[in-house]
Amino acid sequence: MRIILFGPPGVGKGTQAKLLAEEFAIPHISTGDLLRAAVKNKTPLGMKAQEYMSQGNLVPDEIMIGLIEEVLSSKKASKGFILDGFPRTVAQAKALDALFERMGIALDRVISLRVEHDEVIRRLAARRMCRQCGRIYNLHQLDDETTKCQDCGGELYQREDDKPETSRHRLEVYLKETKPLKDFYRRSGRFTQIDGMKDIPVVHKTLLDLLLKNGLPKE
Ligand code: ADP
Ligand code: ZN
Repeated sequence: MRIILFGPPGVGKGTQAKLLAEEFAIPHISTGDLLRAAVKNKTPLGMKAQEYMSQGNLVPDEIMIGLIEEVLSSKKASKGFILDGFPRTVAQAKALDALFERMGIALDRVISLRVEHDEVIRRLAARRMCRQCGRIYNLHQLDDETTKCQDCGGELYQREDDKPETSRHRLEVYLKETKPLKDFYRRSGRFTQIDGMKDIPVVHKTLLDLLLKNGLPKE
């Protein structure tokens, strides 16, 4: 199964992608997570990406396209994948189509999660992330004493780009650069939009029903 989860920052793509990845036993490929790991490890990619990310801007297409080609050609992605955070521009989407064609594979679905803009800003402000494993938490789920990840004990922190000023800018970048992709994928008949305002388990169930109804094998 090869799907793209699409939508504005904070819509819950990462949360839903992780649940689906477990269910279907395929990798969750998040370009945001890959970039954050590169920044943390101070790799050449991380050094190039850091400045763009902390300001809420997109990392240039040529860097991202190179990265995604490397990841999708790797063995771990050979049985399928859930892409989260890529493509984010029309140039990236075109490059992805070209890559799929070269690899002789096809995309099953692009699923867009829809959420109201005010809710996006609220969710980003309340988002906390584990510095070690990347697990995502929401302030409302945590009591005041909890400062460590329940999975790995890592420190929970607020991403620099989740602070309100930067997240507002990211939403603008999304509207300008990424939202036009909806039409790109709509034209290809691979596009479905679902309501991302519902609770996490409800959204998960909607996604599952949609994917299974599509006759996609649970593998
Ligand atoms: P969110 O989950 O909030 O949408 P991500 O964690 O996916 O955010 O991405 C964080 C940052 O990483 C983005 O603001 C951007 O700077 C960079 N980034 C991630 N994916 C891409 C991409 N496909 N193209 C350009 N920049 C990207
Ligand atoms: Zn953790």
